[in-house]
Amino acid sequence: MKLRGLLGFLLLVCLPAQAIELGSVRASANQDSSRVVLELSGEPEFSQFNLENPKRLVVDVTNLDARTLDALSQVDDTRIEGIRSSSRGRGSRIVFDLGGDYRSNVFALGPKDQYPHRLVVDVVGYVAGETATDRGATVTTTPEPPVQKRDIVVAIDPGHGGRDPGASAYGVVEKEVVLQISKRIARKFQGEPGYRAVLTRDDDRFIPLRERPRLARQSGADFFVSIHADSFPKNRSVRGSGVYALSLRGANSELSRWLQNTENADDLAGGVDLGDVDNDTRQVLLNMSMESAIRISKQAGEGLLRDLSRVGRVHKKRLGLANFAVLRSPDIPSLLVETGFLSNRSDAERLSNVREQERIAEAIFTGIKRYFEKNPPANTFVAWRKDNAGSRMTVTVERGDTLSEIAARYGLSVKALKELNGLERDVIRLGQTLEVPVGGR
Ligand SMILES: [Zn+2]
Repeated sequence: MKLRGLLGFLLLVCLPAQAIELGSVRASANQDSSRVVLELSGEPEFSQFNLENPKRLVVDVTNLDARTLDALSQVDDTRIEGIRSSSRGRGSRIVFDLGGDYRSNVFALGPKDQYPHRLVVDVVGYVAGETATDRGATVTTTPEPPVQKRDIVVAIDPGHGGRDPGASAYGVVEKEVVLQISKRIARKFQGEPGYRAVLTRDDDRFIPLRERPRLARQSGADFFVSIHADSFPKNRSVRGSGVYALSLRGANSELSRWLQNTENADDLAGGVDLGDVDNDTRQVLLNMSMESAIRISKQAGEGLLRDLSRVGRVHKKRLGLANFAVLRSPDIPSLLVETGFLSNRSDAERLSNVREQERIAEAIFTGIKRYFEKNPPANTFVAWRKDNAGSRMTVTVERGDTLSEIAARYGLSVKALKELNGLERDVIRLGQTLEVPVGGR
């Protein structure tokens, strides 16, 4: 009896978790995302959800003392218009007023080196009109090595447009179906954590061929894929899709053209600094950049071809090499996908069918994504996720999400996702938070 009394007393003293306090706040932003780091005196217990009209991210930290949150109001950021906090039970509610339709990621980091427990809030998305330069930290107490976790940018180029309709047959026009398929691909990348899509055109407009890779470079693309449909009226039985990378011959002629134009060479975003070097060195550097771009294109293209062959007939079993103008980026891996032959009736019907467009888009999306999951560029969220495979993060259920989609997105079976979160049923609700593995694919 006495022992139980003592235990009861101890439990009473220990159970209400020690409230943790906010030490300092750091905020930083770059072209892809904004990050707010809360340094805390202990491990946060938190959940998050999003609210619409106006867009808000709400983070509840059930063990954080709200009286220590004043520093949050000093954060000045383009994506986060304001931060408000209030006490909620024994903890705090922190509301981030968002300036647009941004995705968010909230996760905790344990103490490491000189850093204590941290709660990291990432708000991800392109700010319209923002130039591609990093902005400095706004609230800084202790400098932290810059954490850059940018999205992988995939440029999707719907072929033709405007006064250039491309191929047409059986009432199907290339510029129209490739735009529809491209938008579907873009939507898939937009919904995928760690990726961002840009379209070279999202309406019926004419863009010169040379302009297309330039648009991709401008938006910092890691990959360029041009979407087309073939036509071969001489033999209407020819059908199926095909994938093309730049042939080395095309590459070499492009290289000499670039070398003649210093302005172009200086514009290269592929990581080679062509500043003060003589022409020979310049040639070597450009060669290396281009060879690596072509190598990546081929590797990704072969995977993509396999994915396409799963959803329909493939015209050529092997990756094609061609000298298409849109593929001639010396620094951005580029592919051209011929989604089928409009001159073939069944292909033409397929390419204008919504469900088939979706399957083709899914195959192209999967092919490109698979390449990047294996070979993520440095400093990207995907690279970070690969390096941190095994740990967990919290995601919020967004409009249109289903359990099976979320499971697939994070490489889990539905069963495993339910187990991980103690879910009894398949129903999830908007704003609900779920634990998912950071990586593990
Ligand atoms: Zn075309």
